[in-house]
Amino acid sequence: MKFKKAKGLADQGKVQFKGLVGSSLYFTVISNDDHEVIFRITNNRWMCDCEYYTRKNLDCSHVLACKYWLQQREAKELEAKD
Ligand SMILES: [Zn+2]
Repeated sequence: MKFKKAKGLADQGKVQFKGLVGSSLYFTVISNDDHEVIFRITNNRWMCDCEYYTRKNLDCSHVLACKYWLQQREAKELEAKD
């Protein structure tokens, strides 16, 4: 359920890649509210500013959407190299 929602967010273009700052990737995920998702490359750690993530410290649909978005992008880049 959570993953389905995340995939939907990514497929609908709701994941906006903001850029690389230092060693962190910044995203904005447009959901009911906008959420800022950060991926710290150095310790492979994802963070989101939503209530679910803050309370449970578990990957929320926004983090999952960004993970899915990254996977899709990497898959496309690999395809492009063939
Ligand atoms: Zn979240």
